[in-house]
Amino acid sequence: MSTVACPECESGVSLDTPVLNEIVECVDCRSELEVLSTDPVLLGRAPEVEEDWGE
Ligand SMILES: [Zn+2]
Repeated sequence: MSTVACPECESGVSLDTPVLNEIVECVDCRSELEVLSTDPVLLGRAPEVEEDWGE
């Protein structure tokens, strides 16, 4: 279990098992974050996906 600061709002984001390139959502600001590195764990903003999946 790792807790990493959200790059958007600095809130703690918990990851059970960080997986490289995994997309996680910050529960606080709802930002989509990508795991850029697992050792140490580093999060970055997930790239915006220009696809419309509908609702
Ligand atoms: Zn956040």
